[in-house]
Amino acid sequence: MIVYRLTCKNEHEFEAWFRDSAACDAQIAEGRVMCPHCGDTSARKSLMTPNVAPKGAESVSGKPSERRAAIMRELRELRRKVEENCDYVGPRFAEEARRIHYGETDSHAIYGETTPKEAKALTEEGIEFGRIPWAPRLDS
Ligand SMILES: [Zn+2]
Repeated sequence: MIVYRLTCKNEHEFEAWFRDSAACDAQIAEGRVMCPHCGDTSARKSLMTPNVAPKGAESVSGKPSERRAAIMRELRELRRKVEENCDYVGPRFAEEARRIHYGETDSHAIYGETTPKEAKALTEEGIEFGRIPWAPRLDS
């Protein structure tokens, strides 16, 4: 099982469990994933969090501050991986994502910033991208 954080078209975030990544894609494509907040069925994956599967009671009963710290650690780790494996394109993210999507440049992993408006346009064009709540880097 894998848990995905999903975002509906009204920007509600919620989590849903799927057998695997393909099952998630299929259920989203068939409109069988419904936002619990507004009933929208055009949800998209916003962040894959396969490592936050319930590990037992202790992860749920931890203090809120500890849970936050754990989440921040995961986000930092995610950021580190992204920075290692992807090219930083900064505010040109939307432009680069389009060029890759339409085959105008070699496919490669990129990361950068985009405005909510650009992100929406990319989604409407069917360009897949992930959103990461960017954890502040700890340089100390
Ligand atoms: Zn919603």
